[in-house]
Amino acid sequence: MAYRYVFGPVRSGRLGLSLGLDLTGDTVCTMDCVYCEVGRTTRLTTARAPYVPAKTLLDELAHWKEQTRQEPDYVTLGGKGEPTLNSDMGAIIQGIRSIFPHTPVAVLTNSTLLHDPQVRRELALADAVLPSLDSLVPAELRRVNRPHPDVDLAALTRGLLDFREEFDGRLLLEVLLVAGYNDSDANLALLREFIARLRPDRVDVVSMTRPGTLAAAQPVAPEALARWREALAPLARGPHGDTTTPRPGGARQFSTDAAPAPGQGHPPRPADADGAAQDRVAASIERRPQTAAQLAQALDLPPEAVRRALEALATQGRLRTTTSGGDAYHALRQG
Ligand code: SF4
Repeated sequence: MAYRYVFGPVRSGRLGLSLGLDLTGDTVCTMDCVYCEVGRTTRLTTARAPYVPAKTLLDELAHWKEQTRQEPDYVTLGGKGEPTLNSDMGAIIQGIRSIFPHTPVAVLTNSTLLHDPQVRRELALADAVLPSLDSLVPAELRRVNRPHPDVDLAALTRGLLDFREEFDGRLLLEVLLVAGYNDSDANLALLREFIARLRPDRVDVVSMTRPGTLAAAQPVAPEALARWREALAPLARGPHGDTTTPRPGGARQFSTDAAPAPGQGHPPRPADADGAAQDRVAASIERRPQTAAQLAQALDLPPEAVRRALEALATQGRLRTTTSGGDAYHALRQG
């Protein structure tokens, strides 16, 4: 069976082996970030709706579990858009708990709907929430995140602070820097002050490692990244003690880009049938660009099966390959 809304599992720097759930089914988001790896937002909205109904998603997840018998480290709500836009999010988190009673649930969010008490109540059902916040300078936020006109920065920060008060789980904040967009000293000063008040459990400062939606959007220099990490990471309160090991980078909706630590790789299993491997590779790169090695690792597929799957997708004209940092990243052609 080709899965539409379940993807991975993929190796995440912050969450370990993370099984992803796509709660929007398409590029539906409250923002249209210049660094987004999924592509341009096709539906820019702040309206919540059951973009993927809970039953559809949970049926697929139960099927995935039955077929694979894998236990990921986390089930992570994310996808091609902003997961909190799905008004079934609370029911989805509760449903995951009956399918995977021993697996914690994480939610990736761009923080824009946290001003809504109902969204916060649903999010608080999760074990870990990974909000992002790229700039507190309004003009920078508009340039880097290109939010829906209804997104209000003051409401966003208030929502984050309120959620911190209400939520007992892990709060892992991420700041993604784009050179010339949000790496100003003014932003650093404002974020420092805000994060000191927020006291998340961890702060990750990352930059782009793959092409975004705008060619002009480029990563910051390693020295700048190091300076920002040094300034912001210590503001986390722990207790997880992992504030100094930010994941290597990448756009946030798929915290899946960290290379596995030595020895963490899964033993290869017998090759999937080519068709099934191709479906899994296609589903994975539809949501984020990856190298062949990352795909083999994340999907637990032999490199040869990944190579054949990529070749087949290229032959079908469905593959888009770009080079970044000397590595070839494969994505599914849109439209
Ligand atoms: S990076 Fe995340 S918040 Fe930004 S447009 Fe893409 S899905 Fe939306």
